[in-house]
Amino acid sequence: MSMAEVAATEPTYDLARFRAAVGDVPVIDEPALVRLKSRDFFWFSPVLKDALGEKSADLVLCPRDEADIVRIARAAAKYRVPITPRGGGTGNYGQAVPLASGVVLDMASLDAIETVEPGRIRVRAGAILSNIDDATRPAGWELRMHPSTKRTATVGGFVAGGSGGVGSVTFGYLREIGNVLGARVVTVEDEPRILELRDRDALSINHAYGTTGIITALDMPLAPMWPWLDLVVATDDFASAVRIGHRAALADGIVKKLLTPLAWPIPAYFRHFKSEFPAGKSCLIAMVAEPSLASFKTLVAMEGGDIAYCAATAEGPGARPLYECTWNHTTLHALKLDRQITYLQSLYPADRLEESVAEITALFGDELMPHLEFIRFAGRTTCSGLHLIRYRSAERLGEILALHEARGISIANPHVFTLEDGTRHKRADIDQLGFKGEVDPYGLLNPGKMRSFVPVRRSA
Ligand SMILES: Cc1cc2nc3c(=O)[nH]c(=O)nc-3n(C[C@H](O)[C@H](O)[C@H](O)COP(=O)(O)OP(=O)(O)OC[C@H]3O[C@@H](n4cnc5c(N)ncnc54)[C@H](O)[C@@H]3O)c2cc1C
Repeated sequence: MSMAEVAATEPTYDLARFRAAVGDVPVIDEPALVRLKSRDFFWFSPVLKDALGEKSADLVLCPRDEADIVRIARAAAKYRVPITPRGGGTGNYGQAVPLASGVVLDMASLDAIETVEPGRIRVRAGAILSNIDDATRPAGWELRMHPSTKRTATVGGFVAGGSGGVGSVTFGYLREIGNVLGARVVTVEDEPRILELRDRDALSINHAYGTTGIITALDMPLAPMWPWLDLVVATDDFASAVRIGHRAALADGIVKKLLTPLAWPIPAYFRHFKSEFPAGKSCLIAMVAEPSLASFKTLVAMEGGDIAYCAATAEGPGARPLYECTWNHTTLHALKLDRQITYLQSLYPADRLEESVAEITALFGDELMPHLEFIRFAGRTTCSGLHLIRYRSAERLGEILALHEARGISIANPHVFTLEDGTRHKRADIDQLGFKGEVDPYGLLNPGKMRSFVPVRRSA
């Protein structure tokens, strides 16, 4: 569905009868609040800001449990009412913005932790990620990875909308087999079903923007918990920050959770972190396990960096963990001070990482401020690029993306709202597309986000 088609689609459902059918499920219908809950961080993109700014649901429904969700799904199928699930609303491609009105499903109340076992957790989809770590750490476990929005995002939203984050330097992206162990989903059919998806099948709901079922619970793998340290390594230039990050990423003996090279002047945007970042210096932000500190320091000294800051990672109320300067938080800090800035998301080739990064930084000069995140990808160490861009126009942004792709750097475009356009291959995952036909035959889940899907059943 194109933006023009979405705009032209007038809702045809009978909202009053739908509302009666969902019974006593708590509802928000105050327009300002509904509009607020119909938004996410799409405004990160100047292109999406124009395209999605006016979109809103008719109602927000706040299910208390899975039985409420089944009731909502049944009523939605009967009256053909679109449903957009919502976790913390921190997605940044308009993933949680309802394009065809209908209802937003606020998953916040489904937040219970069901079981914690060595190496795995079963948790309801609306649980906030930091609450999950709080619950598992006393037993010596923590989530393998989390987005930098850990303190506001839900696990359901992360699995349905996110890709990876803090921890991906060791465990790869969410999409790697083993990083989501299972999912429980409610289908949107005349008689909704509850499906338990295991292992590879659970990938049907990963990064599908809530189009392939309403996730009510997830089985997630856990990693051993470490006392983490936040570090800033100051370097004279960006290439040195990349080189040190690369050596640390490849050093299998060093336990780490984050390696983020940033070029100066990006650290100048971190208003609340002034003392941690020496003025005029590029840097590498790192999270390293306390027992690995001495080894990390040795590696940094061998490569000519200076440790400018080192303290225990603090995540309590009022604390500022350094991971909130990384991943898409870097962009957020910059946007707070300069609304002309935007960003891109890219994947560098593992076999010529440092050369490719040098080529891109030389090509764009001041127009591009380099920001990388070290990750594991398909078993190899490489970088995701979340460079900041001084925005000139949508055309120039398109050129910048094309110049990357011409050099073998793949782009996951954050300036589009469909699943297909946001991927490196520009098409929907065939398994997800097939699965959608089974679980959402009327195409009511987040309509417009999986544009290649054609509803299997239409008539009311
Ligand atoms: C400052 C900032 C930093 C970020 N950093 C990262 C990062 O490091 N890594 C990363 O991957 N992402 C990142 N993101 C994007 C986003 O924060 C994450 O993807 C986050 O995990 C989304 O969780 P959420 O609960 O806010 O989901 P939402 O934004 O509420 O939803 C995201 C998508 O999931 C769907 N969804 C939500 N819950 C369900 C459910 N129960 N069932 C079915 N579908 C559902 C929604 O419909 C939507 O399509 C960042 C965003 C911002 C603004």
